[in-house]
Amino acid sequence: MTALPSTGASWGVDHLARACAACQCRWLLPAPQATQCPWCGTTGTLSEASFRVPAPEHIRTNAASREAVARTLRRALARIPAALRPPDLDPRRLEDRLRAVFVCRWQVDSDVHGSWSCQAGFDYDVETHRERRVAGGWDVQKINRTHIDWEPRHGTLARHIDNVPAPALVEHRRIESVLGPLDGDDHRPYQPGDVAQGAVMLPNLSQAEAWNRAQDSLDEEITQLVQAACGAQHIQNVKIDARYDNQNWTLLLTPLWTTHYQDSRGAIRHIRVHGPSGAMRGELCADHKKLTLARWGTRLAAVALGAVGVWNPTGLIPPPLVVMIAAMILFLGPRLLPESAKLDNQTAG
Ligand SMILES: [Zn+2]
Repeated sequence: MTALPSTGASWGVDHLARACAACQCRWLLPAPQATQCPWCGTTGTLSEASFRVPAPEHIRTNAASREAVARTLRRALARIPAALRPPDLDPRRLEDRLRAVFVCRWQVDSDVHGSWSCQAGFDYDVETHRERRVAGGWDVQKINRTHIDWEPRHGTLARHIDNVPAPALVEHRRIESVLGPLDGDDHRPYQPGDVAQGAVMLPNLSQAEAWNRAQDSLDEEITQLVQAACGAQHIQNVKIDARYDNQNWTLLLTPLWTTHYQDSRGAIRHIRVHGPSGAMRGELCADHKKLTLARWGTRLAAVALGAVGVWNPTGLIPPPLVVMIAAMILFLGPRLLPESAKLDNQTAG
C-alpha cells in the first residue's frame, strides 16, 4: 500500500487530510471546505491528520447533477410558505452548503486454495399412479413428483476471485440502509479530476475488520462455484477450508450530495442524495413557533369572520353562509398549513 501524504497527492488532488472528532469520519477535503465536517455539519471538530489510503480504482456515475439537486430542493421548499420557515431554511443557503461527498467501499481480489465438502442435491422425477373408482370401472391417474437425491461430495479449490465487495466504513450499513447501495456496475476508472471539487470520506474500518465482513460474500461466491462444479440443483452443509493469498485491495467511490440547515429547535437537519440513483433523503421542517402562531391566527380569523357573519352589518351575504365558511376555515385552515416537506420519495431531477 502506498503511503499517502496529508495533501492527498497520491489521489492526484491537492486536498487536506482531516479527522472529525464529532462523527469519527476521516476526510480528504478541498482547502476552502476544511473547516466544517461535510457529514455531521459541525465546525471546529476537524483536526489535521495523515492517512495511508491508496487512490481508488473506480468511481460510480453521478446521475444527479448539482443543478438537478438544487432544483428539486427549491421545488420541495416551495411547499412551505416563506413566512413559516425557520431563518436557516433558505434555498440559497441550502444551495451554498451543497457539497459533493464521495464514500468508499473496498473491492478485494484474492487467490483461494483449499478443500470443500457438501451435500449436493439432484432432482429426479418419480411417477406414481392413483386409482379411483368411477362409474363402470376404475380410473387410473398418473402423478409425477420431483424428489431430491442428496449425495456427499468433496473436492479441492484453486481459483482467483475478483472484486469481492467489503465495507470500508463503520457507517457502511447505516449509509446503505438510508441512501442506497454503495456498490454497482455503473462505474469507470478513477481520474483525479473526479473528486477535485468534492470531499472524500476515507475508510475508517481496518482491512482486517473489512475482510471479516467480506467473508460472507466470498463464501457465497465459493458456494456457487462448488454447486456448479457438482452440477447439482441444490446444495447444503457446505464446508470450506481455504487459504486466501495475494489479496489486492482497491477502492470504489460512490458520489453523494449533502447539505443541511438548522431547524427551529436548533438541531442540524441533513439532506442527502445518492448520486447514482438520485434518491433524496431528508425533511424540510417549518418553524414550530411560527406554525403554532399561524394556526391560532387562522382560528381567530375564522371566529372573527363567524361573529361578523352573525352580526351581519351589511346584510349582503346570508349569515348561515358566512358561518359555514368560517367553520370550514376554523377546522380545515390549521390543517392546511404544512408542517414539513419530506424528500424521501423524491428523485433529484
Ligand atoms: Zn463530522
